[in-house]
Amino acid sequence: MKILVINCGSSSLKYQLIDMDGEKVLCKGLCERIGMESSMITHEANGTKATTPAIFPTHTEAFAEVVKKMTTGAGKCINDVSEIDAIGHRVVHGGEKFKSSCLITDEVINTLRELSPLAPLHNPAGILGIEAARKVFGNIPMVAVFDTAFHSTMPPKAYMYAIPYEYYEKYGVRRYGFHGTSHRYVSGRMAELLGEMPHRLITCHLGNGSSLAAIKDGKVVDTSMGFTPLDGIIMGTRCGSIDPSIVSYIANLENLHERGMNRLLNNESGLLGVSGVSSDFRDVLEAAENGNERAQLAADMLEYQLVKLIGSYAAALGGVDAILFTGGIGENAMGLREQVMHDLAYLGVTADLAANNSRGEEVRISGADSKVEVWVVPTNEEIMIARDTAELIK
Ligand code: ADP
Repeated sequence: MKILVINCGSSSLKYQLIDMDGEKVLCKGLCERIGMESSMITHEANGTKATTPAIFPTHTEAFAEVVKKMTTGAGKCINDVSEIDAIGHRVVHGGEKFKSSCLITDEVINTLRELSPLAPLHNPAGILGIEAARKVFGNIPMVAVFDTAFHSTMPPKAYMYAIPYEYYEKYGVRRYGFHGTSHRYVSGRMAELLGEMPHRLITCHLGNGSSLAAIKDGKVVDTSMGFTPLDGIIMGTRCGSIDPSIVSYIANLENLHERGMNRLLNNESGLLGVSGVSSDFRDVLEAAENGNERAQLAADMLEYQLVKLIGSYAAALGGVDAILFTGGIGENAMGLREQVMHDLAYLGVTADLAANNSRGEEVRISGADSKVEVWVVPTNEEIMIARDTAELIK
């Protein structure tokens, strides 16, 4: 069975074609600058990778080009689109309606439209992708896999905000959590690696966007992203948790309205805003090593907030049996992991520094005598989407 996994942004389309027989990636790629000038496609297959210019007025043309790349030339990996059995779409927000992945019907698309106000930057792009895929691929079965779904097991005491209850009822204002597909993949992998699901597990997904999840017996009980992916730990350009009064305070002083404040908090804050150097953690670390104090401060803030959140989740779970790191930062930033393990000594964590000296590998990095298993588990959201899709169309 061959599954095409799709992740659509408002101007981008990421894809991966997976042969479920052995879960082999046949090709992957990215269409960029859709709806803008100088669009391009990067396609990788058969050991070749090439970026070529293209004209993508909408996602439909981008999908048509993806089909062309998959069926012709050096990147050819199938003879005909009829070989694709189904498409799995990543959808950011499932609200309270979607607690697991589902087959996409007209009704599902309508519900996604109704949910768009909850994720104005993300869900409309997902819908565009679904509709464009329908135009290009016809009646092929399609599945939606939601970033929020894995967190739907949170109890109300964890997902409610202490504002008047009517705003939850009227507008759905509550914590939803995101990155659920990643937290689900890595926690499942953790269970496989340890032989059973750890009773109390904390998963740390640290990338451009970052979130932690507290997972009890395989079910999320709390997570750091909230109503939107802006909440929680400091990220590349997002502020994470701040005192909400700061919003109106700065908005008044700087005469910034909703859009200006959204830009400030989503695109100009986080590692970038504090360091003034970059949103990319590698650049921040390099600048810190060269003596840039604000870069050092941004790196210290990330480490401190991580330790603080892990501590609060250990409290929420009544202790912790396993902690895992994933995402670009979690999988690669050895120094950060070492410092976090050092600061968690009070939980009985010890480190295996030789094992920690690795990037992007599945490895146990806690010492043999550690009371808590600490692991690096590279994430794979695409395979999770493909598995759900295969399961649902069976
Ligand atoms: P996204 O959330 O966009 O999927 P990634 O999960 O790829 O992002 O994570 C990107 C982050 O990972 C960037 O901040 C990048 O600097 C960081 N990263 C990648 N490699 C390293 C490394 N060797 N050391 C520290 N950080 C790294």
